[in-house]
Amino acid sequence: MVLLNPASAYVIAAILCVIVGTYIIAIWRKMSFTAATVIANIVIFIIYMAPMNDDIFRDVVTTLGFNNSSLQTGEQLWGMFTHMYIHASFLHVFFNMFILFIMGIHFEDRVGFKWMAIVYWGTGVLGGGLVAGFLTLPDIVIGIGASGAISGVLGAFAIMYPRDRVPMVIIFIILPRVQVALGALVFILFQTFLLLFAVQLPGMGNVNYLAHLTGARVGVAFGYIMMKKGVEAPKPGAKLGRKLDNLDYSPLGELAYHPANKERYEALLKEDIPEVKEVLLEDLVSRLRCPDCSSILTLKGTTVRCEGCAWKADLRKGRAG
Ligand SMILES: [Zn+2]
Repeated sequence: MVLLNPASAYVIAAILCVIVGTYIIAIWRKMSFTAATVIANIVIFIIYMAPMNDDIFRDVVTTLGFNNSSLQTGEQLWGMFTHMYIHASFLHVFFNMFILFIMGIHFEDRVGFKWMAIVYWGTGVLGGGLVAGFLTLPDIVIGIGASGAISGVLGAFAIMYPRDRVPMVIIFIILPRVQVALGALVFILFQTFLLLFAVQLPGMGNVNYLAHLTGARVGVAFGYIMMKKGVEAPKPGAKLGRKLDNLDYSPLGELAYHPANKERYEALLKEDIPEVKEVLLEDLVSRLRCPDCSSILTLKGTTVRCEGCAWKADLRKGRAG
């Protein structure tokens, strides 16, 4: 690829860093995938629009957009992924991110971060990229924008939770509580209409409505598979529960010789609710004394330590030492 402006290389590198960096920060700070994606798209849009240079914009679109001739040449296939993060105009990025935000947050509540990412990236790559790219051949089309992925989320949402009510934009009107199934149906009809008449509508011929429709169809397929798998968002306490279930509490049992503590120890072993079990564990440790020096014990992570000597027990291994 030949760049029209040498500075474009830095802009493209910065865009790739934002894509990777945003999701690393999202996982680290426990942000939602939806919010991270909205932020990434806005930051990326600012990065390549801020220089106000047509050559840089063109370089970004030809390098990171998805040129469907890639399917014939095998070159720049990364565009199937990166095109989701490039938008043509402020309105393009604004409407896409607005719809993603009001709808994606609800879907992500239902299925969790991991499956939201799988649906969003999967339908964007397959529906908005691969399938739309094949269907538009032999015409050469450069696809950009998150529309295919957002349509994919809507498709999966509609098939999995058709009765959920979410805010939605239907034909440029914001409705606060629309059943997902109804919203998706109107969306599909509207997009089909635009696909058929897009050429006649001034200013709308350049949006890839086909990518929206293929994205939505692939999204329906994803949703169907997820229903078969029984996908649900992980419950808040699930991770803590797994951690507590994998601990070996026997070093505490050996120290719980006082009858009251013995009862507390038995209650701890029987407890099923992770948050309660954690409290019982902390309470029991605070009541036990070091077997070597009788000082108080403290719990740090999964290790019980003596405040007075070097005695400690790692509950992950069930060993005292
Ligand atoms: Zn001690």
